[in-house]
Amino acid sequence: MKIVVCAKFVPDATADRRFRSEDNTVDRAGVDGLLSELDEYAVETALTVKEAGGSEDGEVTVLTVGPEQAADAVKKGLQMGADAGVHVLDDAIHGSDAVATSLILAKALAKLEADLVVFGMGSTDGGMGVVPAMVSERLGLPAVTLGSEVTVEGQTVRIRRDGDTASETIEGTLPLVLSVSDQANEPRYPSFKGIMAAKKKPVETWSLADLELTADQVGGSSAWTEVVEVTARPARTAGTIVTDDDGSGAAELVEFLSTNKFL
Ligand SMILES: Cc1cc2nc3c(=O)[nH]c(=O)nc-3n(C[C@H](O)[C@H](O)[C@H](O)COP(=O)(O)OP(=O)(O)OC[C@H]3O[C@@H](n4cnc5c(N)ncnc54)[C@H](O)[C@@H]3O)c2cc1C
Repeated sequence: MKIVVCAKFVPDATADRRFRSEDNTVDRAGVDGLLSELDEYAVETALTVKEAGGSEDGEVTVLTVGPEQAADAVKKGLQMGADAGVHVLDDAIHGSDAVATSLILAKALAKLEADLVVFGMGSTDGGMGVVPAMVSERLGLPAVTLGSEVTVEGQTVRIRRDGDTASETIEGTLPLVLSVSDQANEPRYPSFKGIMAAKKKPVETWSLADLELTADQVGGSSAWTEVVEVTARPARTAGTIVTDDDGSGAAELVEFLSTNKFL
C-alpha cells in the first residue's frame, strides 16, 4: 500500500510573521519555518497504518509544495520514519491560493499512485481546512475528514470521527483521502537513528512541468482569492485589575463581567 502524507512547511508561529509589501503574500523567505504541527499527526497516522500492516507491504511518502526551505518539512517526516519524500518546487507557485495548491497536490498524488492520502486538519498559517476536500474532488476519490482513529484492513479503511455529542465510525475502500485531527495520536519524536537514516532516504524534487502544469494555472495571477489589506494587530492594552482591599472586590468583579456581557 502506498501511503502519501501531504505536509506543509509553515512559518514558525512563535516567531514574527511578515507579509511582503508588494503583494500582501506571506513572507516565506528568510523566516524560520517548520513542518506544520498539525501535519505531524498525519505523518504519525501514516506510519502507524504502515506498521500495523507489516512493514513490507507499505511505503510512506511525504509530499510538500513550497519554496526551497519547505524541504525541511519533508526532512522532518523522513526523520520521523517516512520512507521517501517529494518536494514540488517552482518559482511560479509563489502566491498560489488553496485552489491552486490542491491542483498541484492532486497532480503529484496521481503521479505517485497513492492508495491512501493523509492530510492534517489544517495548516497553522493558512488554516483553511479545505485542501483535503478539494484534492479528493480533483482525484475523484472519497474523502473522510477530521478522523481521530484510523485502521486499515486489506482494502477497507475504518475511520472514527468525534463530534461534541457523539462519535461515528465510517468505512471506506482504498483509494481514499483522509484528514486527521489533533486527537488522532501522539506524534513521535525523531530518534537519533531516525535522524541519521533520513539522510539516506530518497527525496525527489518536481517542477510544474514534471506535473504537466503550466505557470498560468498556479501562482498569484490565477488565484481566486487575494489578500487586499494587511494590518498589524493592535498592541495589547493592560487589563483591569480588581483588588479587594475593602471587601468590594466581588461586587466590582460581578459588575465588570455583567457590563461586558460575560454573565
Ligand atoms: C509555495 C507556496 C507559496 C504560497 N504563498 C502564499 C502567500 O505568500 N500568501 C498566501 O496567502 N498564500 C500563499 N500560498 C497559499 C496558501 O498557503 C494556501 O492557501 C495553502 O497552501 C493551502 O491552504 P491551507 O494551508 O490553509 O490549507 P488547509 O486546508 O488548512 O490545510 C489542510 C492540509 O492540507 C495539506 N496542505 C496544505 N497546503 C499544503 C502544501 N503546500 N503542501 C503540502 N500539503 C499541504 C496539509 O496536510 C494540511 O494540513 C502559498 C502556497 C504555496 C504552495
